[in-house]
Amino acid sequence: MAAEVFWTDMRTKKGNNLVDKVARLWRKAGFRQAITPGDLVAIKIHFGEKGNTAFLNPVFARRVVELVKASRGKPFLTDANTLYVGSRSNAVDHLQTAIENGFAYAVVGAPIIIADGLNGKDFYEVAVNGKHFQKVKISSAIYNADSMVVLSHFKGHELVGFGGAIKNLSMGCANPGGKQMMHSDVLPEVQEEKCIACGKCRRWCPAGAITVAEKASINAELCLGCGECTVTCPERAIKARFKSEPVVLQEKMVEFARGAMMGKENKCLFFNFVVQVAPECDCNAWADAAIIPDVGILASWDPVALDQASFDLANAQPPLPGTRLDGHENARDKFQAVSGYDGTALLQYAAEIGLGTREYELIKI
Ligand code: SF4
Ligand code: SF4
Repeated sequence: MAAEVFWTDMRTKKGNNLVDKVARLWRKAGFRQAITPGDLVAIKIHFGEKGNTAFLNPVFARRVVELVKASRGKPFLTDANTLYVGSRSNAVDHLQTAIENGFAYAVVGAPIIIADGLNGKDFYEVAVNGKHFQKVKISSAIYNADSMVVLSHFKGHELVGFGGAIKNLSMGCANPGGKQMMHSDVLPEVQEEKCIACGKCRRWCPAGAITVAEKASINAELCLGCGECTVTCPERAIKARFKSEPVVLQEKMVEFARGAMMGKENKCLFFNFVVQVAPECDCNAWADAAIIPDVGILASWDPVALDQASFDLANAQPPLPGTRLDGHENARDKFQAVSGYDGTALLQYAAEIGLGTREYELIKI
């Protein structure tokens, strides 16, 4: 059976601005039913790496906080620490970054709790009995929350094509150890002819796996497969290779997404913001120009249908000139054109294991 996906475009007028539209989506989707009075409600969000500018605008988070409070839930904003070295790899830096990016209590009206604690060690092992993992590592504050509202910025992703609700549930809800479990099949490779020995990749490597002499060199024994060097290199001299098929990473992510939702049946709600669709993840300390015009905001109870609808609407947009889509104007999958990866295996596997359905009814409000 098709899942309902509610969509509002970017058009606004007096009395119906984009923040008001978030509340309309909430009401239309009947999200209030997911929250029992007194629930601790995790609002799962990505606060953006320091220097990134494409992450979700905090005013939307504030509106969702108000809606949760109106449903008599107790909201908190949350994300888990990163695997790579950056501005969000421990709770102190992560909180500081979140506040600098605009997620202060005075703005959003709710506290921030870093879901996996001070240094990423607070997690639960959740049995998923998947084909890749028996158990996955889910950050404690997400596991222990009674209900969850997942706010995702839909954009490109350098290793899996695109990132939306399922990416936010999987990579976003796992502690660094869980992220490493998903990334373990990635093996980066230096293209020496492009390397200028600047050393930026070495500074961002969490494993000390990179040495730079005349050219960069990666110790495959030490590499965690986080992929950070592939996007950090200003010369695009490091290619991500996979020890197995690229779909394995996507399937592993789906099994983590299932773990994040466990125990919260009919208690998880999803918004995708298909705006400022950057070619790469908000984990980067920059955001390149959006590759398509803004599509709007989508909401659903089903993360698979939501990501499928977001993907389809994004691909129906014309490419924006002067962006990473230059030279790929006729690409059917704009995200694959930019990243080199077909991300639809994630949707396929998510549907196969019952996380949701790829069939959707798009309801425009
Ligand atoms: S060498 Fe491996 S661990 Fe280091 S940044 Fe690259 S992918 Fe990550
Ligand atoms: S960031 Fe790129 S160019 Fe700089 S040392 Fe690493 S591989 Fe070479």
